[in-house]
Amino acid sequence: MKSKKTNIKFRIPEHLHGKMLLDLERSHPFAFERVGFLFAKTVNLSSGVTLIIATDYQPVNDEDYIEDYSVGAKINSTAIRKSMQATFDQSCGCFHVHLHNHSGKPYPSSTDEKSLPAVVKSFENIAPKHANGFLILSKNAFYSSIKIEASDNLLEADLISVVGKPFILQYSNKSTGKDLMFDRQSFLGANSQFLFENIRVGIIGYGGGGSHIGQQLAHIGVKNITIFDDDKIEITNLNRLVGGVYTDVKKAILKTSIAKRVITKIFPKSNLTLVENKWQRAVEELQNCDIVFGCVDSYTERQQLESECRRFLIPLIDIGMDVYNSGGYFMSGQIILSMPGSSCMSCYGFLTEEKLAKEAAKYGNTGGRPQVVWPNGVLASSAVGVFVDLVTGWTKSKEGVYLSYDGNGGKVTDHVRKQFTADKCEHFLIKNAGKPLYVKI
Ligand SMILES: [Zn+2]
Ligand SMILES: [Zn+2]
Repeated sequence: MKSKKTNIKFRIPEHLHGKMLLDLERSHPFAFERVGFLFAKTVNLSSGVTLIIATDYQPVNDEDYIEDYSVGAKINSTAIRKSMQATFDQSCGCFHVHLHNHSGKPYPSSTDEKSLPAVVKSFENIAPKHANGFLILSKNAFYSSIKIEASDNLLEADLISVVGKPFILQYSNKSTGKDLMFDRQSFLGANSQFLFENIRVGIIGYGGGGSHIGQQLAHIGVKNITIFDDDKIEITNLNRLVGGVYTDVKKAILKTSIAKRVITKIFPKSNLTLVENKWQRAVEELQNCDIVFGCVDSYTERQQLESECRRFLIPLIDIGMDVYNSGGYFMSGQIILSMPGSSCMSCYGFLTEEKLAKEAAKYGNTGGRPQVVWPNGVLASSAVGVFVDLVTGWTKSKEGVYLSYDGNGGKVTDHVRKQFTADKCEHFLIKNAGKPLYVKI
């Protein structure tokens, strides 16, 4: 009997979720409800977390329903066979999906409970290494029943997230109640504190930008933070590393140790994971994050980080600043939300082949670029604002984010290129999400 402690995170891109709802809501000539199949890749992290990454949805054709008025929907063997074939072709798992058309959490009917486990079993026979199961959707919530390799039983996901703006985050655990510390931010929504307590946030780079972000996340009440930085504090960092003090430089302590000191002093309940390494050497820690702040220095690093986040359906909020001399000093910066399924940094024209090539040519010769505390503060604060909106949806904005900072004028505005960018990314396709497949030739 396998009974390891499991933690299942199910990530569904917003546009696939929308596609499922649109399809399942349509009436059928005789069936009371519709059925579809959601395909998903499974990634088992060594920490025991199972990531399920939805990559595609297949509706059942009208003619593949069987007239049987004793149940909501009965589909024929052709439909099942098609979904099994797709599971096999895409080497992924499969989820039977149907809709209970109301708001709030749906629960299986007695017919669902009787018939669906057998369907799951047939998917398991085809793709035993992947998670398989059934999902019941409502207008805004889910019921999940999932079979993973590590367990003999059907399990419920610990987190189902619809990755988009705003994020839908449905946790299986219950709220621990109100905390007076967050009294003045209750306008963010009744559920906001619970979400901040449960979401896992990554910060890549705890320098000028990351240190502001860590501090603010602690004030907001974000409990689970993973911080990646392999550097020790140096005297030249002290002009902008928030929370770093003079004696830290003397002792040459790790920037992650400064993070821990600052964050736990503000919010002792915090649950930090400190990665004293580059994220590339701790990819599973990154993959486990539900959302990531990128505070990295180079375009190459941004490109690598963005493609990793896209693979694992993780929204990335990138910040960066630059001071350049062009007949006088100019200070500029950007805040970009790279949301899986929507515009990426290349779509926005921020990452270009030209910039990457220029940077590669200068490699190893970038020197100590000018950096100061206040623009980092503006960029980091704006990024935290983007994060809060994403998680709570308090502004109800669905728009993408590409903000431009003019440090000389002290202005943060929509970047001019944003309005010309189609919200459809061809650089990272959802169907390619999940661990890269190595095909045997
Ligand atoms: Zn049902
Ligand atoms: Zn793109």
